[in-house]
Amino acid sequence: MRYISTRGGAPAVSFLDAVLAGMAPDGGLYAPARWPPLGLEPRRVATSHYANVAAHALKAFAGDDLSADEAAQLAGDAYIDAPPDPRDGAWRGKWPEAVTPLRQVRTADWLLELFHGPSLSFKDVAMQLIGPLYDLALQKRGARLSVVCATSGDTGGAAVEALKGRERVDLFVLTPKGRVSDVQRRFMTTAGAANVHAIEVEGDFDACQAIVKGLFADSDFAARAQLSGVNSINWARIVAQSVYYQVAAHALCAHGGVDFIVPTGNFGDAYSGWVAKQMGAPVGRIVLATNANDILARALNTGRYERGASQATLSPAMDIQVASNFERILFESLDRDGAAVGRLYARLAQSGGFDIPPAALERLRADFAAAHADDAETLQTMAWSAQDDAAICPHTAVGYAARSKAAGALTGGPVVFLATAHPAKFPETVERATGERPPLPRKCADLFARPEKFDSLPADAKAVQRYIRERSRAWS
Ligand SMILES: *Cc1c(COP(=O)(O)O)cnc(C)c1O
Repeated sequence: MRYISTRGGAPAVSFLDAVLAGMAPDGGLYAPARWPPLGLEPRRVATSHYANVAAHALKAFAGDDLSADEAAQLAGDAYIDAPPDPRDGAWRGKWPEAVTPLRQVRTADWLLELFHGPSLSFKDVAMQLIGPLYDLALQKRGARLSVVCATSGDTGGAAVEALKGRERVDLFVLTPKGRVSDVQRRFMTTAGAANVHAIEVEGDFDACQAIVKGLFADSDFAARAQLSGVNSINWARIVAQSVYYQVAAHALCAHGGVDFIVPTGNFGDAYSGWVAKQMGAPVGRIVLATNANDILARALNTGRYERGASQATLSPAMDIQVASNFERILFESLDRDGAAVGRLYARLAQSGGFDIPPAALERLRADFAAAHADDAETLQTMAWSAQDDAAICPHTAVGYAARSKAAGALTGGPVVFLATAHPAKFPETVERATGERPPLPRKCADLFARPEKFDSLPADAKAVQRYIRERSRAWS
């Protein structure tokens, strides 16, 4: 399988090259040259082991880069801590419910719980697959990597859990000092692994992100450090996230469509649902639920994609103004005209916005709808959900609140809400809304007793470069 750039100006590359590179050299993102079928009968998706569905999705997108056996080993490592039994090839261990349980909350409403991974957010589902995938890819090439990420939220903890102790990867996580919650920070600082480096930067998230962009832009440094990213544009994350849409859609509905309500920031998760649909999953409409940072809701409802000022909200993982993965769906809605995508993004860079061409907008609206909820609505929704059923995290609450606003866009089939974080990851907000502080699940109940290890650096690219140079095993 070959991967092409959404801006049409870079050579096609293989699956592993697309995964390890992150962005294409022309500034675009990678998309598969064609949409492969999942290669598993609908009936089997609904009854199969989660890891088996993941192995098929991985093999479909990897093409010749991975054998079916390797894909199965990786998915087994990620989701059941065990490969298929060599005697009969059968998958044993945890069943799908244990990876992404689907729970009925009302007559036709379901909650897809994506927060049962080690750092309690949906980022774990994809990152758990990226860990073993990187190890295998680097082993094949005899190479090492320095993975760098700037995070204000859940990506850091998920990356630490997935990459700690990996033979060929050193991880550098930059977080803005004092801007992440205690729970989020501790998932980054308590791994106790020599290859994990948590760095607290004396600056805000934009400063962290600017430093990381600068590291990648310094081509000499990037090459010597073998720099790579695991942010939400990483193709392997999209593939991994498409799997729970497959499993949930097939479990609920073999014929019509299942509508999904997706708390959205960088548009990675929502786009993964669209990818599952291209592979044959019975997905109806995907509703983008945004907080006050509502660029996507405005784009879909008005046709104008325009950057606004970023606001801090109670759902911080969605405080994003430019949704990176939106470029991928724009590419599709423009009939894969990379030059047209390039022109629109040049306009965005120059003037902060662009108009989506009418034909493209119509196509987007066939698959997506959008609505936003502010902090007051988020708190209200958390309060009634706790009374009615169970505590939910603020991101999930934005989804609940968006549903009634987007009711006209639903297709009438079952509705699945994506629950993107465990409520215990945002204890202050849950307590404020419901009066009760949610306890951490047993597997990480000792989070506050674990020793923390992190270093502090000024918001200075040179200082961060020096830090990485001294510690990365990939440096040459
Ligand atoms: C990252 C994140 C989101 C947003 O996901 P995108 O793929 O960026 O749209 C929503 N909720 C939580 C809890 C997250 O960590």
